[in-house]
Amino acid sequence: MRGRGDSVVSIQTLTKSFSTGVTALQDIDLEIAPGEFISLIGPSGCGKSTLLRVIGDLVEPTSGTLRVNGKTAHQARVDHDYGIVFQDAVLYDWRTVQRNVSLPLELLGWDRAKRKERVREMLELVELTGFESSRPWQLSGGMQQRVSIARALSFDPALLLMDEPFGALDEMTRERLNMELLRIWEKSGSTVVFVTHSIPEAVFLSTRVVVMSARPGRIAATIDVDLRQPRGGETREDARFFELVTEVREALAAGHGEAAGGRSSSVEELF
Ligand code: ADP
Ligand code: MG
Repeated sequence: MRGRGDSVVSIQTLTKSFSTGVTALQDIDLEIAPGEFISLIGPSGCGKSTLLRVIGDLVEPTSGTLRVNGKTAHQARVDHDYGIVFQDAVLYDWRTVQRNVSLPLELLGWDRAKRKERVREMLELVELTGFESSRPWQLSGGMQQRVSIARALSFDPALLLMDEPFGALDEMTRERLNMELLRIWEKSGSTVVFVTHSIPEAVFLSTRVVVMSARPGRIAATIDVDLRQPRGGETREDARFFELVTEVREALAAGHGEAAGGRSSSVEELF
């Protein structure tokens, strides 16, 4: 068990039931240490987004405890501890790329010169230098998602929450953005919680994979990913990579089988 005192995220027996009667999360216990890259994986509807939203203070838990950097999630949000990236880049069409990235900095009251310098750095990081004056609709899906990553990272958040950020992208773009994300993660030293339904993506990116099962959403298993850092093209060819992919797949099947009353054969439908 990781020490609770220095956890970035500390969750004990957390439950979330919606007013519709759906119990999206039940008895979640999770400790996330500084600098970890955690993936949440599980069948559709198992509560991945809900868990991410609870951590990000966008959804209130029904019971249990949650601390972020030793504070309430609400205080963490007030303190700008989070950068959040959703599946669809939520960009403002009337703002240029540059002004989309600088939005949080404007809200934080940074002066113009400091904002400009940071935006330049961030666009360089996601390889969008030269697109400062473009509008979001002039960019491809992958480029838009890179803008939203640049924006989420612009104010150096301690905790980056990402909900299937590359889910809508083609495989090639996704693999390239995976590499970029790891490069950014190494450089920034931030902690990442990443939702995906891709097993190879979860294994490739993470230091630890949290496997969830559905109805109600629980943590079925957590798997330490002991692949060498930094990860690269050769990681995907490592025998250990395939072992871990299998391990995650089996944990998903076991979790699903339990939740569905033993109908584990239907797990193929999910992926
Ligand atoms: P996932 O991201 O793993 O696909 P979600 O966290 O979106 O799953 O949803 C988990 C469960 O909670 C689902 O049954 C979903 O219908 C339900 N749910 C999610 N958000 C709400 C909401 N705002 N109101 C009612 N039910 C919700
Ligand atoms: Mg979701």
